[in-house]
Order: sequence, then structure tokens, then C-alpha cells
Amino acid sequence: MLRAVAERLCANVRGGDLVARLGGDEFAVLHRITDENGACILAQRLIAVVSPPYELGDVTVEIGMSVGIALAGPGCDDVESLLRNADTALYHAKGEGRGRACLFEPAMDDSARARRLLERELRDALQQDAFALHYQPLVDLRSGAVTGVEALLRWQHADRGLVSPESFITVAEETGLIVPIGEWVLNQACRDAAAWPGSVSVAVNVSAVQLRHRGFAQSVFLALAAAGLPPGRLEIEITESVLLDDTEANLETLHLLRSTGIRIAMDDFGTGYSSLSYLRRFPFDKIKIDRSFVRDAGLTPDAAAIIRALVSLGTSLGITTLVEGIETEAQLAAVRAEGCREMQGFLFSPPVPAGEVAAILTAELRPEAA
Ligand code: C2E
Ligand code: MG
Ligand code: MG
Repeated sequence: MLRAVAERLCANVRGGDLVARLGGDEFAVLHRITDENGACILAQRLIAVVSPPYELGDVTVEIGMSVGIALAGPGCDDVESLLRNADTALYHAKGEGRGRACLFEPAMDDSARARRLLERELRDALQQDAFALHYQPLVDLRSGAVTGVEALLRWQHADRGLVSPESFITVAEETGLIVPIGEWVLNQACRDAAAWPGSVSVAVNVSAVQLRHRGFAQSVFLALAAAGLPPGRLEIEITESVLLDDTEANLETLHLLRSTGIRIAMDDFGTGYSSLSYLRRFPFDKIKIDRSFVRDAGLTPDAAAIIRALVSLGTSLGITTLVEGIETEAQLAAVRAEGCREMQGFLFSPPVPAGEVAAILTAELRPEAA
């Protein structure tokens, strides 16, 4: 495969150019140009020639290629800088999707450095067991009882203290680190949940990258088995992005998980495309309506109308509806009035460390004011 790619590259550069393999699946092309446009044209051509299928013995292989371009000249006159800049541009190209070419710009350097640092810190955190789970209760609005808790990842950072996932999940996803981190989350959450009463389930957030990863379902089953937790007590929260790409394979994995009794929830509903067709594509057990629908005063009239429609849809499809981010009594009352089944939010409890979960499980939501 590598030789076949090298042949195509060599056949499409000029005589004076140099083609080299840097290692793994990375190649470098040293090309003499008079303007940067020439480099971009060459990059596009190489992407095009590498793309057609390869016949290798009995198998046909298709690959794609991303290109990072760096220009030698003032400010970049040694091999190390040239390769480093090309690498930074390559990283950007990959971030923009398949088959892209990207020209290095100095501004890329700062963000690349910050990302590399974050990536290294995340790797260390995984090694040093610096992650923790906090849990936030999900409350049934009719009985007032806690039906489950959501596991929320926290990173105990040496300088920055307790770091919320919002600041590192994206990098973890882009670097693939979300796979081992997510596996840790699943195992820890199942282990913690096994110590709680049987009526309490645990919800775990799973990103599209994890779900797409081969062996994901297996790792879920292993986590349940290792903890001795029945599948019926695990809920997996996914967002719409999961259904946006690689849909068939993702749906298959979700069906497999659900067939064992694991519940599947759609998280942050209302923030993305929120296509109702997603609800037809997969038999979700729960819709979590995003907290952007609740405002200080309770609900805006249109938000109330949307929640009412979702609740009624949920009722006919057998899907539980939950509203996230309830912080005030007014919001609670409004959500109750729309017939929602469950709530989650600071009003009842913020996420708490595992050691404090037991105390929360016995708490109850005040019944509706008469
Ligand atoms: P999410 O799954 O929608 O989780 C709810 C987020 O809303 C949590 O933020 C929670 O602390 C916050 N929240 C809960 N109640 C309230 C409230 O009343 N008001 C306000 N303003 N916020 C509230 P957190 O813990 O920072 O997590 C952010 C997101 O990071 C999560 O959103 C989830 O998408 C992702 N995440 C968390 N843990 C994991 C994980 O283990 N794996 C993956 N892949 N993603 C995770
Ligand atoms: Mg969630
Ligand atoms: Mg959410």
C-alpha cells in the first residue's frame, strides 16, 4: 500500500522535487516554487492522484489524503521549522475534513501549541488518574423521587483546579483520547452505580467518536459485567451529531446496546438540527430538552409551545421527556405545567462528588405547590 502511494506521488511531481516517507502513513514532498499558489495546485493534484482505489492482490483499498503546506523563506529557514509548520498546517487540514490542503499561517502556531499542551496534559491525566466523576440527580416530577443520576466528567488539574468537560472534550475527541477517557468514565460510573439502590440508574454521556469506535459496545458490556450492574440501570446519552455521520453503523451499535436493556437518551435536544426524523430513526427512551429553552421567568411562550409538543409526542411514542437546567421555582412550575416527566438542574442539586450521592438519593422534590 505504502509503495503504491509512493509510486503515484513520485509519478506526479517534477524531476527536481523530492518525495520521502516520514514514517507511518506520512509523506513529505519537497517542491521548488515561485509562488504559494503553485504549492496549493500541487497539493490538490496529489490529493486527486492518491484517491482512486488501489488493487492490492485480491483486495481493493481506498484512501484519502490531507496536506499541510509550509513555505521556506524569511522566518522559516531551517528544516525543523519547515517540518513543524507543515505539521501544524496538516493538523488544520485534517480538522477541516477529508481530502483538504492547508497553507501554514503563523496564527495557527499559537492555537496548535495550546492544543498540543492540552493533549499532553490529558494523556498525563489519564495515566495519573486525575479524572473524577460528579453526579447530578434526575428527578421524576410526579413522585418527586430521584430516578437516576447523570455522570459528569471532571478533571482535577494541578493549576486550574476542577475543570469542566466543556473545555477539553473537543480536543479529547479530535485526538481520539475520548476513547480511553470514555472507557474510564463507563467503568467508573458502573462501579459507583452498583453500590446504589436498584431503583437508581446511571446516565453516561457518549460522544460520536466513541460510538463510532469499533469495540464500543463490547466495552460497555465489559464495564457492566465487571461492575455487576444490570444493563437496565445504564442509560447512554448521545447528541444528534451521532446520527449525522456514519449513521448506519452508529444506529446498529445503538440497537445492539438497546436490545440488552440499556436505555438510550437524546441529549441537548433543541440545540442542533433537532430534526424530528431522528426520533423516527431510532426508538429513543428519553429526550433531554436543552436548558436553553428555560429562561429566568420560566418559559417563553414559544419555548412552552415546543416543550408541550415534545411532551405530547413523547407520550404517544413512549419516550420520557426531561428538561435540563432548572434553576428556579418559576422554571420548575412552568415545566411541570407542560406535563414534563423529569427534570434536572441546580434547583434540586448541582453535580456532586460520588461520596455525596447517597445523601441526595434519599432527598425528594417538594410536591407541586397547591
Ligand atoms: P450535558 O450532558 O448536557 O450535561 C449537563 C450540563 O449542564 C453539565 O455541565 C451540568 O453541570 C450542567 N447543568 C446542570 N444543571 C444545570 C443548571 O441548572 N444550570 C446550568 N447553567 N447548568 C446546569 P458539565 O458537567 O460542565 O458538562 C458539560 C457537557 O460535557 C455535558 O453536557 C456533556 O455533553 C459533556 N460531558 C460531560 N461528561 C462527559 C463524559 O463523560 N463524556 C463525554 N463524551 N461528554 C461529557
Ligand atoms: Mg448529558
Ligand atoms: Mg444536555
